[in-house]
Amino acid sequence: MTPADRLRELAIRHAAFAWLDRERAAGKETFTQLDTSGLTLAGESMRLMPTQQGIWKPGPLAAALSFRTVYRPEGIDRPYDDAVGQDGFYRYKMRGDDPNHFENRALREAMVERLPLIWWIGVQGGGYSALYPIFLIDEERADLQFVVDVDAVPQPDITWPSIELELDPSYRQQLTKRRLHQRPFRAAVLRAYRTSCAVCSFRHSDLLDAAHIQEDGAGGRPVVTNGLTLCKMHHAAYDRRILGITPDYEIRINDDVLREVDGPMLRHGIQEFHGQRLMVLPARRTERPDRVLLEQRFQAFLDAS
Ligand SMILES: [Zn+2]
Repeated sequence: MTPADRLRELAIRHAAFAWLDRERAAGKETFTQLDTSGLTLAGESMRLMPTQQGIWKPGPLAAALSFRTVYRPEGIDRPYDDAVGQDGFYRYKMRGDDPNHFENRALREAMVERLPLIWWIGVQGGGYSALYPIFLIDEERADLQFVVDVDAVPQPDITWPSIELELDPSYRQQLTKRRLHQRPFRAAVLRAYRTSCAVCSFRHSDLLDAAHIQEDGAGGRPVVTNGLTLCKMHHAAYDRRILGITPDYEIRINDDVLREVDGPMLRHGIQEFHGQRLMVLPARRTERPDRVLLEQRFQAFLDAS
């Protein structure tokens, strides 16, 4: 790919992400094929989602722009089972069993050129949520899958010139190594909770954290089932044992704090959640909080009361 081609690829992608940012800012969370068709991006007419298959390379582009994971209710075999590997990165299954199928080649091109993509994730009730910009950082041909880095999410304000930084291989390796340890925990947890606080459903991502259930220092693993998306206040309340969560996903507030009299923030922000169930849980059962870990953590809450 020539530098000019690459710039064009980036310009179109930038326009696609800007369009998604605007839609999301207007409150749109899930998208259909129809919603994302007939757009004009950097002067090119195109759609953002594949129609039939999982991988989408629009005509004007040399590399794939997006790929898709279809929603499957629990218990139904997923044709593309996008699992998280030991290293914490997601895997995306190639199309079919030929790594050189043209759609797989289109994904590989995006990987080699380090071009950002959109990952459409099917959600319950139809439609897809958009994960972007994401990068393919490696492939495992024997297992017919790509390694996906969702670490760049959520970063709608990504500075585009930085994409142009030519990373030398040693730096890139270092970066990858560091990420292997850091893991895309935040991105995975925020995605699972649809960017909403589990307690109060607050949705401003700047004020949301991926909280550990079993704490980092106590050997808690950075996996979705050990995570909860919590707003800053509920995260702090959870860490300070002011707020507890039972293994049945019910919220408890510390007795002393329940009796406290203060202003509306304490009343509406803390006390009124006592006895309520979590407002947001991952759609996939396999991503919901581990009840054993919740139990241990809840015991610590009770001990502190
Ligand atoms: Zn909250």
